[in-house]
Amino acid sequence: MDYHGRFAPSPTGRLHFGSLVAAVASWLYARHAGGRWLVRMEDLDPPREVAGAASSILAALSAFGLIADEPVLFQSHRRAAYDAALEQLRAAGHLFACTCSRTDLAATGGFHDDGRCVGADEPGRAPAWRLRAPDIDIQFHDALQGPQRQNLRQQVGDFVIRRADGIYSYQLACVVDDAFQQVTEVVRGHDLLDSTPRQIWLQRCLGLPTPAYRHLPLVLDTDGRKLSKSTQALPVDATDPLPALRSAATFLALPVAGSANTVQELLANMLDRFDPDRLPRRNRGWTAKSS
Ligand code: GLU
Repeated sequence: MDYHGRFAPSPTGRLHFGSLVAAVASWLYARHAGGRWLVRMEDLDPPREVAGAASSILAALSAFGLIADEPVLFQSHRRAAYDAALEQLRAAGHLFACTCSRTDLAATGGFHDDGRCVGADEPGRAPAWRLRAPDIDIQFHDALQGPQRQNLRQQVGDFVIRRADGIYSYQLACVVDDAFQQVTEVVRGHDLLDSTPRQIWLQRCLGLPTPAYRHLPLVLDTDGRKLSKSTQALPVDATDPLPALRSAATFLALPVAGSANTVQELLANMLDRFDPDRLPRRNRGWTAKSS
């Protein structure tokens, strides 16, 4: 199958430097492989959404010369596909309805007893749907971070597929849509490495293919925390994209010639020098001065 890569931002704020690095890196891998690069807007969770963020992220991507090869997929339009996946999981016996509160769960150390809800059965209270975590080690090889292993039962526990308020979890939507978009390699931040075994298990339960995974080093702030939209990391300046794009190239250890005058030239320049096996692995602190 042809290489399909993707960038999947959540509209919780404007595009910041950490997301720009993920967008550029996923674009470089897709272009280097002669494949397609797709964008998916993960607008699943209206309460967490910031008004205008989705359109501002998409406008910023265009200003950086990162143009998707297919129309952007909006998760807010994909409810029927998630309903079908939930039904498939329920019919196969993988799910249980759960009314556990945080207090109920705290009493059991945060875990369910053998895939059963420990919450009081309160008539009229809508349940969340959880997937039974199996007591097996999920193993995979991350193309950048090396061999990985996680026991879902012991390290994660039964996890939510649909919340009590009806909102589908990131894990389910991501798996359904990676398959729908025929993604062959997921290139994303290191903070999601921990979600990957849950996603691989969901793929197995749903009979979907498992893509390759490559988790990028995170851009950390000066206090060693992940730059994230929700902690108000400074957005990149899409009206003057060259400095931030040069900075992203430096973070990705891609030596870029100084002569590029447009984002298209700079991206082409990065692509010429891109070696998929020579990307840095470690999370690193970064300030505007680092570049
Ligand atoms: N929407 C997620 C985020 O912005 C990324 C999901 C993914 O790449 O799988 O953190």
